[in-house]
Amino acid sequence: MQTSTRNTVLLNRSRTAVWHPCTQMKHHETLPIVPIARAQGCWLYDCDGRRYLDAVSSWWVNLFGHAEPRINAALIAQLQTLEHVMLAGFTHEPVVALSERLSALTGGTLGHCFYGSDGASATEIALKMSFHYWRNNGQPDKTGFISLAGSYHGETLGALSVTDVALFKDTYAPLLRHSAQVPSPDWRQAAAGVSPRDHALHCARALERHLGQHHTRTAALIVEPLVQGATGMAMYDAEYLRQARALCDRYSVHLIADEIMTGFGRTGTFFACEQADITADFLCLSKGITGGYLPLSVVLTREPVYQAFYADSVTRGFLHSHSYTGNALACRAALATLDIFEQDQVIAANRDKAQRMTAAAEPLAAHPRVRNFRTTGMIWAFEVDGADADFSRRFFEAALARELLLRPIGNTVYFMPPYVISDEEIELLATRTREALDATP
Ligand SMILES: *Cc1c(COP(=O)(O)O)cnc(C)c1O
Repeated sequence: MQTSTRNTVLLNRSRTAVWHPCTQMKHHETLPIVPIARAQGCWLYDCDGRRYLDAVSSWWVNLFGHAEPRINAALIAQLQTLEHVMLAGFTHEPVVALSERLSALTGGTLGHCFYGSDGASATEIALKMSFHYWRNNGQPDKTGFISLAGSYHGETLGALSVTDVALFKDTYAPLLRHSAQVPSPDWRQAAAGVSPRDHALHCARALERHLGQHHTRTAALIVEPLVQGATGMAMYDAEYLRQARALCDRYSVHLIADEIMTGFGRTGTFFACEQADITADFLCLSKGITGGYLPLSVVLTREPVYQAFYADSVTRGFLHSHSYTGNALACRAALATLDIFEQDQVIAANRDKAQRMTAAAEPLAAHPRVRNFRTTGMIWAFEVDGADADFSRRFFEAALARELLLRPIGNTVYFMPPYVISDEEIELLATRTREALDATP
């Protein structure tokens, strides 16, 4: 790809001074780093004004486009009153209002909000809280965690210990505490002729067997409800969540719903758990929570969990903190994001939008190299036949040359666009993805 001097200068400086995430830096000898100067709506603009459709919502965080006027205005107003204050011993309107509104979105069932700064810290908080609950409750042997095969819950050591993506985990295995994996209800793994629902039931029986044997030593099961993102957008039937909820109740094991990616409308309901009509014991949120503006995460939990920590003794309390916990700017961005959900009737509007995207992608789904075309809410994914180990990087470049930001996971191509994607942009995304596919043998 042709790059101008301005672009080249910035990307060379970046390659020297910035160690980029999730990257073998040597690959950037050939693979371009894209220097972004500004962004608006679904589009990112580089230093030459070349544009890219942000079809992965900047790593799954953006909901209403870049430079959303209402979120901008809310942040500017907040800047003029309070940017940040420590949350231990202090409080402020944005964090209180946000906690009340998030709790209300769970029907009041999860009435207590504990804040962190990013997704991985939310996972850490939920794991530590679950363990500590059982300890405070006189069951100190309940120290184990269960996750699904192919799960992803973040990459700090605790979160990585319940993550099951070899590429991220294997190198650090000696540092990690063991956790158990049970079969994933991912319908692609169903035996021939078995429906997604029956596959979910089959996997629930495997969970039941595991819990039957290990429940006295198990603190919690952690799941990504409906869609396991980082393993390659594995989608599954909501029946699994209903079964998991019932089994966790039967065996006195916490259910942690990691809705860091699936929350905030991504799967078609505000929370993915709503589609199974269940409530977890711990609900982890991040990514879309601020509309993609600022780092923030939160773990919501139930009254009995809160009560188990409420005592005269200091160490019965949850002595966990992050410096930026409950940052006022981030909470204000989150409140503006919740306002937009109401003002624009986002969940209903997305239903129509999703149908248009699925229709526009029909020719793509019928492409001879496309397998397992699937969708849940505002997520679409498919596997590409005949992809080699280098496919992901080559496809990324082919898409970039066609004004698309797409970042396949192995041979899985997915769309996770901002909810404000227009009909025109939907067409462009579907058409150019096909072109990129044909250009990536
Ligand atoms: C992204 C993600 C995380 C980790 O969040 P970070 O902010 O990247 O630490 C955890 N769980 C799920 C399901 C995610 O998609």
